[in-house]
Amino acid sequence: MTYIPTAPDLKFEVAQTIRACRRRIAAEAEKGRGFYGSTDRDEAGDFVTAGKSQVSVHAFIRASEERKSGGSIWERELRVRVGAVAKCHGHGCVSPDFHDQHDGHFLLGDDADVTAEAAVPLVQAAREWAQAHAEKCRAQPYTGR
Ligand SMILES: [Zn+2]
Repeated sequence: MTYIPTAPDLKFEVAQTIRACRRRIAAEAEKGRGFYGSTDRDEAGDFVTAGKSQVSVHAFIRASEERKSGGSIWERELRVRVGAVAKCHGHGCVSPDFHDQHDGHFLLGDDADVTAEAAVPLVQAAREWAQAHAEKCRAQPYTGR
């Protein structure tokens, strides 16, 4: 019997990525290093187009340090934004990008499962875009010639 790999649950993957991001920032802080921001991605789909190109879908997790006003002092706050992107790699494709982001932000310390949940409908929209795009896009892969 052939082994067919099953993609991991996306919400779980995104939550794990958020937790890894937390650990990374904490480790850097212990070394006295500041944090300016980072973007992580989790693979969420791959489609083959009519032109034999590829459309990839990713969830993204963008962490940033923001300063919020806390009366007379400035407090720092680690925020997370989630969203999804899809990209067609067809050479000359006329509309190769899809991007959508959750309206609000979360705190890095918030429940990672809740933050991850917010990415799910955006990834679903990106997958739908990718599916529809793959059906009609005839741009071929770039071959370098
Ligand atoms: Zn395309």
